Order: sequence, then structure tokens, then C-alpha cells
Amino acid sequence: MSTIHYIFGPVHSRRLGRSLGICTLPKCRKICTYDCVYCEVGRTTDLVPPSFRLRGVNRAETFFLLESVREILKTDTPIDTLTMVGHRGEPTLNPRIVEITEGLKKIRDRYRPEVSIVILTNSSTLIQKSVQEAFTLFDKVIAKLDTVSQKKFEAINRPHERVTSIEEIKDALACFSKNHPGKLVIQTLVLKSLREESNNSTRKDAEELAKAYRKIKPESVQIYGLDRNPSEDYVFPLSVEEIYNFSKEIKKQCPDIKLKTHP
Ligand code: SF4
Repeated sequence: MSTIHYIFGPVHSRRLGRSLGICTLPKCRKICTYDCVYCEVGRTTDLVPPSFRLRGVNRAETFFLLESVREILKTDTPIDTLTMVGHRGEPTLNPRIVEITEGLKKIRDRYRPEVSIVILTNSSTLIQKSVQEAFTLFDKVIAKLDTVSQKKFEAINRPHERVTSIEEIKDALACFSKNHPGKLVIQTLVLKSLREESNNSTRKDAEELAKAYRKIKPESVQIYGLDRNPSEDYVFPLSVEEIYNFSKEIKKQCPDIKLKTHP
């Protein structure tokens, strides 16, 4: 049995349908380059730089993970997506991500070719060439971009001090999207806050994000709201009406963008 990776689901996801979660980080710790105020799994216990890679991930661990996925895909369990996640962190901090993804693709192609393989990333490691290369293996890369203001980025995502600026992350997203058209999906969580710097739901926020989406040119954008308990009690979900109004503002600024709203 693997002590690092684990599989959960399939669970019904608002954005991915029936999703089988493949977690590349251990359950007992939260290892992330961010400590988002809205994180549903609480405060980050191990706030690490983007260059950090998890130790102890050996061949046997990877083998057990892939064999477990194979056993599930051989059954007739309904699954739409194999979703690589950190669950409690950023999935690319696992050093064997390429090996795992290549293995998943082989198994998927053999047993369930209709299933997509996607990764949920917080975008902080995309600046690295090796991560960009790993991302090309996925059918879709769903990448976080909650704000383009450095002040708000620091207040909402609370990145490790060695995470690059949000401007550089935005440029890396645009570059990846240009080189791999149709692969990148941007995911933006919108929330209200008692503290101005961690509120990203104003009209100005919508305008700035719209400008960034126009530059990045992703395949689509997902706007979504809080639906579980956040890590900090000073942030709140938007009402359904507020979140649709936020999306409407974005749509006004970039009418050609494929936008999905998940209140
Ligand atoms: S990037 Fe994801 S796992 Fe990390 S703190 Fe933010 S919401 Fe939580």
C-alpha cells in the first residue's frame, strides 16, 4: 500500500463531473506553496517554496498508486475525469509527477479512453520548465488565478516568500497557453472579506481579471464561490446573485471568453 499517494471518489464535482481524485501528497500533512484564506482543509502546516519536492516517493509508491487506479478503471464504475490534486497542497510538489501521469495515460488509454486526465494546480510552480513539460501530458490543466493585484495575492493566497510575483505567474500562464492552445483552464475563486485586501469581488477586481484573461487566452475560465468552511473566519461567500453579477462584469469586458460560473 502507498503511504504517500491516495485515491478518493469518484465524487461528483461541480466542474469535473464524476471525478476520481488522485492525490500526490500525504494525507497527514498540508504541504503547499500557498496558505489561502479560503482553503477548505485549514491552515498550511508545511509552507514550502516552489522548488521544494517531497522526499521518499520511490518507484514502489508510484507502482502501488497506478495499480490501484488500474483496478478501479477495470470495473464499470462511472468516471468522467481522473483528477490529479494535492488535496492538502500543490500536486506538483511530488517529484514523480511525470512518471505518474505517463502511467495514468497508459492505463486510461487501455481501459477507459473516454476519461479525461486533468490536474488542479495553484500555478506557483508553472514558472519551472520541468513543470511546464509535465503539464503538457494532461488533457486539461486547471490553474488558479484569484487576483492580479500583488497586495491581494499576498493577502488571499498568502504565498511562501520564494513564490514569484503574481505578474510573473500571469506571464507564465500566458506563455503556457500560447504554446499549448486549448489546454489551460483558469479557475478563479471569488470571495468577500471583512479585510479590504482579501476581498477580490469588486468591480475593479473583475476588470483587472478580465484584462488578465484577455492576455492569457485560456480555453475557458471558471468563476466559483466558496462552498465549504474557509480557513479564516473573516472571509465569506458571495450570494448567487453577486457571483453572477461578477461574471457578467467579466463577460462585458471579454465577450469572447468561454466562462462558466459555479456559485
Ligand atoms: S493552493 Fe489549494 S491547497 Fe494550497 S492553500 Fe490554497 S486552496 Fe489550500
